[in-house]
Amino acid sequence: MQLKEIGEFQLIERIKRIISPAPTNVILEIGDDAAVFKPTKNKLNLLTTDAFVEGVHFDFNHISFYQLGWRLLAANLSDIAAMAGEPKYAVLSLALPSTISIESVEEFYKGMTALGDQFQISIIGGDTSLSPDRTFISLTLFGEAKVSHLSERSGAEVGDNIFVTGFLGCSEAGLRLLQTNDPNHVMDFSYVIDRHCVPNPRINEAKFLVENFNVNSMIDISDGLSSDLRHICNRSGVGVKIYADQIPIHSVTKEVANRFSETPLSFALHGGEDFELLFTSPDIERSIGDAFQKRFGLPCTKIGVITRAEDELVVIDSEGRSSPLKTKGFDHFRQ
Ligand code: ADP
Ligand code: MG
Repeated sequence: MQLKEIGEFQLIERIKRIISPAPTNVILEIGDDAAVFKPTKNKLNLLTTDAFVEGVHFDFNHISFYQLGWRLLAANLSDIAAMAGEPKYAVLSLALPSTISIESVEEFYKGMTALGDQFQISIIGGDTSLSPDRTFISLTLFGEAKVSHLSERSGAEVGDNIFVTGFLGCSEAGLRLLQTNDPNHVMDFSYVIDRHCVPNPRINEAKFLVENFNVNSMIDISDGLSSDLRHICNRSGVGVKIYADQIPIHSVTKEVANRFSETPLSFALHGGEDFELLFTSPDIERSIGDAFQKRFGLPCTKIGVITRAEDELVVIDSEGRSSPLKTKGFDHFRQ
């Protein structure tokens, strides 16, 4: 059944049936003019938003409504993770063509709730509008953080080790495969396809890191390692030295890069939307890496060190040669 047959208000009723009930500190959720909730005492409030535009951020030939709901929330959660925060409440704006089916919108909410339930997030409001052709979706997420946990982009210090969680370049590998429109790829390379379509934001991982180690600065990798490293360097007034052969690249990503006659390193350096954490710490490599692996079954790898600003951003290859780190991550307005 298409949206034009049921209308906006019946759609909101159907949405209400899917989303999980809000906790008691939410006083008013969907149904009033604004949602009302009590923030937790003595916590800092975090607020972040992300918008996805059909044709720019996603293509319905490659992603399902369920996956899209998951992915939109994951992008927002990843920003809260980068602040070592705890996500709490979300509001969501949808602009949809009237030819979309109600079942598709329900699938979208099911995907979002499947991920949201992992972190006890409540969707407490939104807005619904007609779009003449493309789908536009925007989610705003409220979160909280302990003052002592905040890890800004600006805290990196000369001599800090640089770490990343998980593997880099997986999302790019998944996207490239999807763009070939070959259905066999979805089965053969499900690891990287899933990393693209249903990524896991590192909320628990970030909390573990700030609770157990000295984290001087942190960012989530959304634009690509080369871009996001630059954000840390610019905000902290430092340089970096990255060791190319220490960057964690999954064997499946290597295989995919080879298929496209590209280097796995270019996927890992410039591919966006892995939603892994990039952070700097004076602590030693072994202590962080081992504890993280034990707790999450995922690597946390030292990939370089923070240097003085005048040393700039450099990559050292396996032969010890150094070259400037080029920034090729995603930028909306650059050609
Ligand atoms: P208003 O006209 O005051 O903006 P709406 O009719 O847009 O109110 O929304 C009615 C209620 O439904 C509000 O509580 C709003 O937060 C909620 N809502 C509207 N659209 C959505 C949506 N897509 N997802 C979740 N809640 C929604
Ligand atoms: Mg409204």
